[in-house]
Amino acid sequence: KRTITRLPEWLKTPIPSSGANPNFGKIKADLRGLNLHTVCEEARCPNIGECWGGNDKSAATATIMLMGDTCTRGCRFCSVKTSRKPPPLDPHEPENTAEALARWGLGYVVLTSVDRDDLADGGARHFAETIRRIKQKKPTLLVEALTGDFMGDLDMVKIVAESGLDVYAHNVETVEGLTPYVRDRRATFRQSLKVLEHVKAVRGKEGIITKTSIMLGLGEQEEELWETLRELRKVDVDVVTFGQYMRPTKRHLKVEKYVTPDEFDLWKQRALDMGFLYCASGPLVRSSYKAGEAFIENVLR
Ligand code: SF4
Ligand code: SF4
Repeated sequence: KRTITRLPEWLKTPIPSSGANPNFGKIKADLRGLNLHTVCEEARCPNIGECWGGNDKSAATATIMLMGDTCTRGCRFCSVKTSRKPPPLDPHEPENTAEALARWGLGYVVLTSVDRDDLADGGARHFAETIRRIKQKKPTLLVEALTGDFMGDLDMVKIVAESGLDVYAHNVETVEGLTPYVRDRRATFRQSLKVLEHVKAVRGKEGIITKTSIMLGLGEQEEELWETLRELRKVDVDVVTFGQYMRPTKRHLKVEKYVTPDEFDLWKQRALDMGFLYCASGPLVRSSYKAGEAFIENVLR
């Protein structure tokens, strides 16, 4: 059956291709061999050429998905498979991930995962172990972890925060008023703020970068977005990204609005004026979009 999509012009992008980038083939072959998964490939992210390639090799970024492809939660914007009892963790994953990353020519990696509410520690130790091994093998590789909320268990947040990572990301995804409709009922806006706040409590305000992402186009009002940004600044969140919500299937939430590129630019400027260290904002921006380049330009220089 044909589906008719009426996307605005700015969302029609060419199919990603590897071009002349030698990183592509190497990474792909390794992924298969080591049973690793990238969000970049699995979500068919349109930014893959820019992220994996990068003009500057030291800024090349990829997003690795740890702990399997099956989530214990069911958010209404997300197409990841769900189950109450996903398969057990692969004990070799921390080592395999570190081994592969040490070989690839990347400068920055984002580690993310499904939510594993079935595990006693929510997977915090697995995350931390992976980060420690990466840093042992390749200390110069910048590591960002994008975690869930560990059901509000701040001791688990601490385990990850102390593992040696450079950027701790946790996404609020949307404004507070829409959270119950958009995210799984176990997630709350306040709980997410506490996660972000606790990372700074553990590592110190200047000791680590915290980051969050917001999807636009879910029906949020302008004032609600202002309020969200104010709340994030109150807990010293450093980085915010804005992207367009795209409906994965008809069973997911409808897109209420296609936000124009100009509006994305406006929100970026507003965020910077409010004191965020940097902000990626655009229709195709995803949490990890060119994260390496952004970090190098705004934090290291
Ligand atoms: Fe998707 Fe994350 Fe929600 Fe799981 S917790 S359903 S992976 S957005
Ligand atoms: Fe991968 Fe994220 Fe870049 Fe997409 S935006 S290619 S998921 S690193």
